[in-house]
Amino acid sequence: MKNSVIGYPRIGAFRELKFEVEKYFLKQSSQEELIALSKDLKEKHWQDLKSANIDFIPCNDFSFYDNTLDTAVLFNVVAQRYKALKLNHLDEYFAQARGYQGKFGDEKALAMKKWFNTNYHYIEPECDDAEVIDLVGDKIFKDFIEAKNLNINPKPVIHGIFTFFKLIRFKDEDTKQKAKEKLLQAYIKLLNRFNDLEATWLSFDEPCLVFDLNKQELKLFNDFYQELLKHKGGIKILIQSYFGDIRDAYESVLKLDIDGLGLDFIEGDYNINLLENFGFHRNKILFAGIINGRNIYKNNYKKTIDLIHKIKNYAPNIVLSTSCSLLHVPYSIQNENKLDEKYLNHFAFAKEKLQELNELKILLTSKDFNKEKFFIQNQILLANSLNKNNLKVQESIKTLSKEKCIREPEFKERKILQQSILKLPILPTTTIGSFPQTKEVRSNRLAFKQNKINIDTYTSFNRNKIKECIKIQEEIGLDVLVHGEFERNDMVEYFGENLEGFLFTQNAWVQSYGTRCVKPPIIWGDVSRKKTITVEYAKFAQSQSQKIVKGMLTGPVTILNWSFPREDISLRESALQIALAIQEEVLDLENAGIKIIQIDEAALREKLPLRKSKWHTYLEWAILAFNVTHYKVKAQTQIHTHMCYSEFSDIIKEINAMDADVISFEASRSNLDLLNALKAVNFKTDIGPGVYDIHSPRIPSIDELKNVIKKILNKFEKEKIWINPDCGLKTRNYEEVVASLKNLVQASLELRKELQNE
Ligand code: GLN
Ligand code: ZN
Repeated sequence: MKNSVIGYPRIGAFRELKFEVEKYFLKQSSQEELIALSKDLKEKHWQDLKSANIDFIPCNDFSFYDNTLDTAVLFNVVAQRYKALKLNHLDEYFAQARGYQGKFGDEKALAMKKWFNTNYHYIEPECDDAEVIDLVGDKIFKDFIEAKNLNINPKPVIHGIFTFFKLIRFKDEDTKQKAKEKLLQAYIKLLNRFNDLEATWLSFDEPCLVFDLNKQELKLFNDFYQELLKHKGGIKILIQSYFGDIRDAYESVLKLDIDGLGLDFIEGDYNINLLENFGFHRNKILFAGIINGRNIYKNNYKKTIDLIHKIKNYAPNIVLSTSCSLLHVPYSIQNENKLDEKYLNHFAFAKEKLQELNELKILLTSKDFNKEKFFIQNQILLANSLNKNNLKVQESIKTLSKEKCIREPEFKERKILQQSILKLPILPTTTIGSFPQTKEVRSNRLAFKQNKINIDTYTSFNRNKIKECIKIQEEIGLDVLVHGEFERNDMVEYFGENLEGFLFTQNAWVQSYGTRCVKPPIIWGDVSRKKTITVEYAKFAQSQSQKIVKGMLTGPVTILNWSFPREDISLRESALQIALAIQEEVLDLENAGIKIIQIDEAALREKLPLRKSKWHTYLEWAILAFNVTHYKVKAQTQIHTHMCYSEFSDIIKEINAMDADVISFEASRSNLDLLNALKAVNFKTDIGPGVYDIHSPRIPSIDELKNVIKKILNKFEKEKIWINPDCGLKTRNYEEVVASLKNLVQASLELRKELQNE
């Protein structure tokens, strides 16, 4: 019995990689220093794997920024405009990742996209000339040799040709067609090189197999691998899937001349049915993903061993594996010294998961190991139900249903009532919530957290910031104001900290993209609200202006999706528990006289299941949870919501069923598609499509903004449209924000005039 890991976190226990790369960006460290650090990190991680007795140790899972970009660079899928900058290798790489502005030119970055349904983002490779595709890079080979030199025989991992091909953005259809053959040849060269290097195994990651695949896609997959595998020589090939089951491709995969297949039995519960229905080869190896690579709770050994026995009925030759790369969990619990042992005992981050793989191996093979005793300990630990007994919450969520949680009266009537109170002009202007998180704002929070200042000093600083922020917005001339969110480190963590049932870590960072990491809270127990959370600041902000100031909350689905969820109750139950807590806050805000309440659901789209057949179940509870938060408010109270990453053309009916009064969304890059989709379903809710991209420091001109708004006006009646940026402003500076918003207000004013004169 052997075990295997698909990938390991690369940022380092204390985000060393992030800091070093950022230093490099600021020209405060050299290429050599960056390479030296990466070498140390890789070595350290390989040692972790080795000392935990992992048999299949990956290499090439390390990256300075992103593995998809690494693959693109390896095969020379680099758009001409970046090559034209004539930068050195590393800088050309970073230019694609984050844009380049300097003495050699000015190029925007490549698009950044969500990696399947995780919170990790990859860089979308761009191919404008298929002819140049070739094996040109050497990082993967260097990594391989580095590991070899440490006496490790690594399993190089790389995107499989099918997945990589699907992730590329091609200039046109012709380029795309040509690229197939070129890419195939390049992958064949890769195989040849690894034959020369005498690699034992090579893993092709093929997560795209977990999507719904049509006949054409399956044919492409088959064509690629039928040909590629003719050239495998002496290397054993593993096709590694993750994030779900591979029902559409399974029969094809079985026919391929591969040596191993990796299946995810955590998210892909249907994979066991595939084994049952179609069997598996006796002489090939099944890499069974049984350790959850996406959550941080300890493994339930008894359950896992039962599952392994079941799998072994069909596949006698198995290797125990993680369900996906451990990139999606933090590095180690060893660096958590504030969290009580009684909690910490329940968690396994990446490093501890290696231990789990090792223990499972021992449990399954060694005769003298006292299994029963071990199981009992593991069972007691899992059953330990600290803070999981809020019966009131548990009972309340049972009563919630789609039919019961409907807001009255219906939208049309509400709109008239609300307008009679809010008296807003057409094309009202607003922002999404946060204002720049300057150094002083962060230090104030930090000082309070470290007990260096008392609550009064802390609060009065925030109040002053709010006062200032309101004044700035009034001067700019915005119609609906916000308080600026200075008290919030993060839109999820802030609410988690004020709710019962959440735990927080010190160093449990997970890479979100490039050098950006997030520290998701852990949902531990039943969730309920301890006390009012936002009411005081909201009241204060409103007292500072005659204009309306929005109350600002994070919605239950987003809080859940950006946390590590419980495994002992369903996501649905967790979402509804959080929804009830947020409902209390909504009603308290309303009671305090707040007339517009925004409930952000930034991450609702992110966790939409990859397979369509699972959408219904997810959307049922996600939309219900949102409705629970607001269905009890008065008709006069206006409910807004905001969504990032709004590729929701195909779930637009469900978004409408959230029954908000206004929805703003991030769409500055894909505006038109979405507007068409909204139009097609006769979208009921009023809309605020982001009119400029806040992820860029660029300041949009008045004309540019007017043009965007005109496009929206072409499709929708003017009474339906709000004017706002596409997301919160916290990552920008004041200079950019004020200039951009002034133009935004001016654009709206000019268009109002033009419309009145019509
Ligand atoms: N209200 C939040 C903010 O402005 C929304 C952030 C988000 O959508 N990610 O920061
Ligand atoms: Zn957003």
